[in-house]
Amino acid sequence: MASSHTVLMRLVASAYSIAQKAGTIVRRVIAEGDLGIVEKTCATDLQTKADRLAQMSICSSLARKFPKLTIIGEEDLPFEEVDQELIEDGQWEEILQQTCPSQYSAIKEEDLVVWVDPLDGTKEYTEGLLDNVTVLIGIAYEGKAIAGVINQPYYNYQAGPDAVLGRTIWGVLGLGAFGFQLKEVPAGKHIITTTRSHNNKLVTDCVTAMNPNDVLRVGGAGNKIIQLIEGKASAYVFASPGCKKWDTCAPEVILHAVGGKLTDIHGNALQYNKEVKHMNSAGVLATLRNYDYYASRVPESVKNALVP
Ligand code: AMP
Ligand code: MG
Ligand code: MG
Repeated sequence: MASSHTVLMRLVASAYSIAQKAGTIVRRVIAEGDLGIVEKTCATDLQTKADRLAQMSICSSLARKFPKLTIIGEEDLPFEEVDQELIEDGQWEEILQQTCPSQYSAIKEEDLVVWVDPLDGTKEYTEGLLDNVTVLIGIAYEGKAIAGVINQPYYNYQAGPDAVLGRTIWGVLGLGAFGFQLKEVPAGKHIITTTRSHNNKLVTDCVTAMNPNDVLRVGGAGNKIIQLIEGKASAYVFASPGCKKWDTCAPEVILHAVGGKLTDIHGNALQYNKEVKHMNSAGVLATLRNYDYYASRVPESVKNALVP
């Protein structure tokens, strides 16, 4: 039967279920105890069995349902037949019941680019900082991030055995973002969230110049955007290369859908077309409110060191 739903809403509804499945894989690998850690470029750039299995699951599940999509995943994996057990076929009904924003209703499958970070915050995952971890599926059209899903597999894991583990946040520009309670940092407080595992002098110089009341050092781009929308931090500052398009695509949508702003450190919007280079070479600056305050305090020396 031909679906009455738009391609975009069907894709987001599938991505929701697929991100949930990836979250279960992330939890299962820890429970089984063998992380299978591989160093990619250096000791702070890691890949685990969970990154590999989750990417296989996400990319194969998406490609099976939407064969004309362009899907770009973080991990370089050899081609192999994917175990049927890794395939997720579900779609989240609540999303299908929403109306697609009219500007996206005619989008075709082949026009969409999906950026997949199967496990964001891998370094922290290997160190047991499990609530830093997210699964990110971002959807771009004409170079712009327009829809995204974030699964946080260990949400609530410190709340005791009765707590429901894990949650999924999703959003579409023009429709909104769902699955969390929007909260703001108290007015006048400048709380900066930044990298825990990839710090350097440029990052520190930039954070210091913003005169923060507090600095949080946590893992994951997805995790830091969740801190912005839940009132735990007022700005995500990363004045360094290192973060890639799959790190920012889904989180950017969630933030933009609730009125926030994510750019590079110069204030340029990020581009997500399939030909774009993967590295966000000029860093990341993101806020829910008061973007101009933080942008105006980025030192010239930092800007000069970061070429887009
Ligand atoms: P972080 O805030 O350090 O957790 O970084 C956010 C995302 O960017 C994570 O996916 C990191 O793996 C990635 N990232 C940032 N800096 C680097 C780097 N120097 N090398 C590799 N990945 C990085
Ligand atoms: Mg990542
Ligand atoms: Mg990753």
